[in-house]
Amino acid sequence: MKIPFVDVASELVPLKAEIFRQLEATFERGDFIQGGAVEAFEREFASFCGVQHGIGVANGTDAIHLALRAAGIGAGDGVLVPAHTFFASASAIALAGATPVPVEVDDSTFLIDLEKAEETLARAKAGKAAAGLNIKAIIGVHLYGRLIPPAALKEFAEKHGLMLIEDAAQAHGAEIQGHRAGSIGKLASFSFYPSKNLGAAGDAGIVVTDDDALAARLQALRNHGQPKKNSHAMLGLNSRLDTVQAIVLKAKLANLEDGNRSRIRSAIRYNDQLAGVGDLVLPEIPAEATAHVFHLYVVRTKKRDELMKHLDQRGIGVGIHYPTPIHLHGAFKHLGYKAGDFPVAEKICGEILSLPMFPGMTDDQRNAVVTAVKEFF
Ligand SMILES: *Cc1c(COP(=O)(O)O)cnc(C)c1O
Repeated sequence: MKIPFVDVASELVPLKAEIFRQLEATFERGDFIQGGAVEAFEREFASFCGVQHGIGVANGTDAIHLALRAAGIGAGDGVLVPAHTFFASASAIALAGATPVPVEVDDSTFLIDLEKAEETLARAKAGKAAAGLNIKAIIGVHLYGRLIPPAALKEFAEKHGLMLIEDAAQAHGAEIQGHRAGSIGKLASFSFYPSKNLGAAGDAGIVVTDDDALAARLQALRNHGQPKKNSHAMLGLNSRLDTVQAIVLKAKLANLEDGNRSRIRSAIRYNDQLAGVGDLVLPEIPAEATAHVFHLYVVRTKKRDELMKHLDQRGIGVGIHYPTPIHLHGAFKHLGYKAGDFPVAEKICGEILSLPMFPGMTDDQRNAVVTAVKEFF
């Protein structure tokens, strides 16, 4: 049995008739740019996150980039970012004109290590790292769908006077004690890349915030820097959320929590079935299950490459998220980091493997993955 890594098409099947009906009306009206569905989705998604404003943008990378720009972060500023994350968490910092300052991650949660972040800040203050930079912000990445403990993250940002921006691209709907992803930072960015927990039928993203002034700046920044038509008060991007994508997202938002519950259920069963197999290290399921919405189900093994090949040969979709830590990408060579600078992140990158995970994954599909993994070990 072939098992896909994700299955973005089948999530849309039950919603197709409703989406097509609305697309038809949009095609008749022709309001493709900033149509009514955009504002309606922005309002609904912001409210889902528990904040006042949502500003739709073209993708998740622009969402981080514009959040930084709205916060006035740019040239000469440093921004803390985990050394283990998707490239865009860091490239967006550089695109905003600032400099990414990588921070070591935790060996068991894979999330930014706030104690190490303290050390990074102390070294920068002593002039031993991040030379000449004024570190002004932190990007908290809820990697794989697991929330960074909100109280600790907020306390860290406040203690050091840092602007807190969540990169919640993998954590739509993740929640601890009423704190939902998107409501923890001053600003939060989301991606709606099709395979994300809430995915569009193409590229899309959003920034959410409770701050009226930041929201107003973002409205302008995503639309050529126009607070009002033909008045370009600042340099912005053309990074609007498509009306067509807003229609798809609004329809799919209703199913997000069900989808997340399905992912969590699959993760719990994977953990039961794979416990004690080979040298596998399985992801911890937090006490409050919704704190991890399993965008990805990531295991660790010293035999990662061999296991990957074994599963691939059996038609099981697997992936590595991500094989290279931030500081070792060619794009950041000029920052002067080298192998060995972030040993935990580097080790993780060599051992992680993402197994198939998507809402509606069947028991048969999961069992086939488990059987193939056991067969390997
Ligand atoms: C997907 C993702 C992004 C970028 O989103 P795009 O919509 O692809 O631009 C940024 N950060 C993280 C952690 C992501 O997973």
